[in-house]
Amino acid sequence: MIVDLRSDTVTKPTAGMLEAMFSAKVGDDVFGEDETVIKLEERLAEIFGMEAGLFCPSGTMTNQIAIKCFTQPMDEVICDELSHVYRYEGGGIAFNSGASVRLLHGNRGRLSSEMIEPHINPADIHYPHTSLIVLENTVNRGGGSCYTIDDIEPIYHLCRLKKLRLHLDGARIFNALVETGDAPKDYGRLFDSMSVCLSKGLGAPAGSVLLGSLETIQKAKRIRKVLGGGMRQVGYLAAAGIYALDNHIERLRLDHYHAKVISDVLTGLPFVASVLTVETNIVIFKLTDDIEADSFTERMAAKGILCSKFGHQSIRFVTHLDVNETMIHHTADVLKNLARTL
Ligand SMILES: *Cc1c(COP(=O)(O)O)cnc(C)c1O
Repeated sequence: MIVDLRSDTVTKPTAGMLEAMFSAKVGDDVFGEDETVIKLEERLAEIFGMEAGLFCPSGTMTNQIAIKCFTQPMDEVICDELSHVYRYEGGGIAFNSGASVRLLHGNRGRLSSEMIEPHINPADIHYPHTSLIVLENTVNRGGGSCYTIDDIEPIYHLCRLKKLRLHLDGARIFNALVETGDAPKDYGRLFDSMSVCLSKGLGAPAGSVLLGSLETIQKAKRIRKVLGGGMRQVGYLAAAGIYALDNHIERLRLDHYHAKVISDVLTGLPFVASVLTVETNIVIFKLTDDIEADSFTERMAAKGILCSKFGHQSIRFVTHLDVNETMIHHTADVLKNLARTL
């Protein structure tokens, strides 16, 4: 048995999802003629109380488009040091937008208005012009930590006051929503734009949607074209996204439960120095100094359990659609056995 806990991106389409993809009605989306893409964009915009949506190949592209929409070269973007837009998008903020980044050290990747305010530059020609704040929910490197709407509200007010734009990297926003119980429509009220990934916990093979005002999405469409992200009969992929919205949101709770089961097992083991409290579908823990992270992942892989090294002495497990209860029990057994043989 192989249990792939490296990422929630490794899921394969289910039979039902493939069926939905096969029977999708498609057209040329660059001509605005793919009705399935339009349906997906409208559906997500409606869910989050935004005016419009734009289907893109990846979450990196939706984030980078949003940053390009809201900044000029010489501007500055404020985000947490753990954020995906900074760490995992290949330096795209500098390359695509010519903007600098002010990195803050938040609470497991979460920022507050108090943390942000002192880092907003005054209008002085010496300083880059602060124009955009980017938040991430849930925070991948924070171990799936989430913001509630109450956490975000003061940041929104600060942005209004200081005339800053606010973008959400919502790659795992549905994981946050099933935990917090917040109303998705509040996101449309608080954010200028947000990115939603269909290829993470929702289980679609590819695709992310950028949401924002009609004006923002119009501009975003030009930027998507420039980046080479205008796709043609892409309704086949959008159909997978619609199927995921219909069928794979509520079940995220199960992934969160599975992550808790694994973290409970880890907490008692001798080779585990600490475990970040599980909030959603990500478990990050630190190994004690007597075992190398590479040696740990190799030993696990030899037993069929795949996981990721995640920084110095840290390991990440991510639960998802293709991990069932039997696999979780098997993972727990392998971990306990490893503790006996080390
Ligand atoms: C996965 C992910 C993205 C988007 O990644 P792509 O692989 O480009 O789709 C963006 N933000 C976060 C936090 C992610 O985990």
